[in-house]
Amino acid sequence: MKGQINVNTENIFPIIKKFLYSDHEIFLREIVSNAVDATQKLRTLVSLGQYNEPMGDETIDVILDKKTLSIIDRGIGMTKEEVERYITNIALSGAEEFIAKFKGKNAEEMANLIGHFGLGFFSAFMVSDKVEIDTLSYQGGEAVHWSCDGSQEYEIDKGDRKERGTKITMHISKESKEFLEESKILELLRKYCRFMPVNIRFGKEKVWTDDPEKKDKDGNPERVQKEQDRIINNANPLWKQKTADLTDEDYNKFYRELYPMNFDEPLFHIHLNVDYPFNLTGILYFPKIHKHLEPVREKIQLYCNQVFVTDSVEGIVPEYMMLLRGVIDSPDIPLNVSRSYLQSDANVKKIASHISKKVADKLEEISRNNKEEFEKKFEDLRVFIEYGMIADEKFYERMEKIFLFRNTENQYFSMEDYRKKIEPLQTDKDKQIIYLYASEPDKQYSYIQSAKDKGYDVLVMDGILDNHLVNTLEQKLKNTRFVRIDSDVIENLIKKETEIPSKLSKEECDTLKTIVEGLIDKQLFSVQTESLEETAKPMTITQNEYMRRMKEMYEMGGSPMASFYGNMPLNYNLVVNVNHPLISQALNTKDTEAQANILSQLKDLALLSQGLLKGKDLDTFIDRSVGIIK
Ligand code: ADP
Repeated sequence: MKGQINVNTENIFPIIKKFLYSDHEIFLREIVSNAVDATQKLRTLVSLGQYNEPMGDETIDVILDKKTLSIIDRGIGMTKEEVERYITNIALSGAEEFIAKFKGKNAEEMANLIGHFGLGFFSAFMVSDKVEIDTLSYQGGEAVHWSCDGSQEYEIDKGDRKERGTKITMHISKESKEFLEESKILELLRKYCRFMPVNIRFGKEKVWTDDPEKKDKDGNPERVQKEQDRIINNANPLWKQKTADLTDEDYNKFYRELYPMNFDEPLFHIHLNVDYPFNLTGILYFPKIHKHLEPVREKIQLYCNQVFVTDSVEGIVPEYMMLLRGVIDSPDIPLNVSRSYLQSDANVKKIASHISKKVADKLEEISRNNKEEFEKKFEDLRVFIEYGMIADEKFYERMEKIFLFRNTENQYFSMEDYRKKIEPLQTDKDKQIIYLYASEPDKQYSYIQSAKDKGYDVLVMDGILDNHLVNTLEQKLKNTRFVRIDSDVIENLIKKETEIPSKLSKEECDTLKTIVEGLIDKQLFSVQTESLEETAKPMTITQNEYMRRMKEMYEMGGSPMASFYGNMPLNYNLVVNVNHPLISQALNTKDTEAQANILSQLKDLALLSQGLLKGKDLDTFIDRSVGIIK
């Protein structure tokens, strides 16, 4: 018998083929998940006592032939009338009818059945010249054979299927012949069907087992290779199991199952299980994040009732959460819709904020329960936490109590404790609390030392995001400024009421400045005279905090303002301590050559300690030093 496919739009197939799915490969997910749905529907009927035959083997078969790919299930099957209604009448969704029919019987199980796959079945035409259905309903009656070549005409007749269930046969088109390769199908099954809730069988695999018949010379059973059916999925993934039954080792094992190429252990996990106001299960892992952000290859995977949807979760989870790993499974995330729609979806937004709340809860819990453990893990978590603090106001508020500063002595402090520690000494004359930090403690050793000599404390801020975090912290913390330890001489970084008197007059300072300017590249360095303590260094190189920060942010791809600063040349200050005995000595010599020698030597020492003395200048410095020793 022939019939016409009943669609509202004139020619729906070209639309399906071209626009509906940009990824042709998802046809396999659609057809296999229909088979899974059909099996689960039958399970439900059994549990409701509406079907009393034995279920038998439920396994779904995927069979590859020379020209066809078939999916066979032993599920609920379809009567002729159902094929007409569900397959032919695209507008009707069978699942919806099914739910309506058994409404109120067992809400939770029913919810499991909903496959929001829209035009799922018809996606087979993206890759096929012809699709056949052979089906026999659980209610008995006649088997049905349906076939369609992708035009609007189809044939429906009595079929010869003897077993309950459905076989979908796809005659793969020439353009899609890659879907006739075993390796391709295996790859797709592993990608989309890896955790589907019914076993899926595809081809054979070789495994090593004990052969009790044969013993080796020690009497142990011999290891032999055996061929067996290959089941490509894990039908009961960890996130569907009860937390109480699981150990840390189970979670770690599952992490390895998800990311076989990653050899790090996760730091910890969060098992998500929400019923209200939306449905969500899943497991999130905190991976070890290496100090510098690497492109994330292993991503959070999104599932809908154990059917893989995507692993590009941008917009679904907050950006900083993308550093996490694991799975999220929710029937409330709409499938097959555009990304922008997904991002504006109310459920998706709720899910995102729920996840960040859970993550914050977990971090709080660990920091509360085991301070030492938390300190140990903190460096691995730092990038993640800082990212969240910068990006998300709410998350910042949650982290305020648990974020840890680390100083150059490797001690950890909460934000509050640290403020209390430095407030007495590091408050300047304008009542600003000055947080001193080093980005490269080794390189900045002498600057750190001068701060410590004054009893100040220096933080280590060497993370990739610290620059941005410092900006955030200055906005959040009252009367606070962060300054890198080499951005000025310490007396200027924390200015006090009492000023050290200058041993040189204003005129002498100006003369000194002119002489030193004659010794240095004025494009790169501005000379600045300061009356510091006698014991402070005679000359020091510093770099303006604000300019440097802007430049660094530009280099990381920051704001347009930062790009303005990014194009500015790198500038340094050469600070001359007018109270240092060597400086006044140099100024007072009549011998101009000796004067230039002393000042150049002091200047070069300052440059050297910042790693700025190079090439010819370095050579001149060495020669001059040797001359002095002689
Ligand atoms: P959806 O799955 O979203 O309802 P599909 O186009 O994939 O949309 O399928 C339409 C309907 O056809 C299903 O709801 C179901 O009733 C029926 N169907 C499809 N495949 C099978 C199958 N393997 N076994 C039984 N019924 C099926």
